[in-house]
Amino acid sequence: MRDTEIPGDWFPRYVTKRTFWNLEGALPYPNHFITCPFCEGSVHLILRWNFGPEQHGHYYCDVTIKCMKCSHVSVFGVEVPKEMVDEMGGHSVVTASDYLSGKVYHG
Ligand SMILES: [Zn+2]
Repeated sequence: MRDTEIPGDWFPRYVTKRTFWNLEGALPYPNHFITCPFCEGSVHLILRWNFGPEQHGHYYCDVTIKCMKCSHVSVFGVEVPKEMVDEMGGHSVVTASDYLSGKVYHG
């Protein structure tokens, strides 16, 4: 394999304190409104929460958010507390319609 030298700090060994995400409830959501980087739209839809497997003692949820103005989709990989994963009761995906219909899983 050829050598690759990637400039910058793309593999930090620390995590800065997360104030962007609210992790108090059953599902993570942004504490702040988001401005779309493409169209500067401010209305977004959380399409889905996708909880992944445990990784070296850490737990993650990919939160997929769609801009309602230009349709740009962003995925945020959010580290979440183990309790949040346990409360999912084995389910790994919650969709917007699950949430809106009140079908948020608890263990
Ligand atoms: Zn947009």
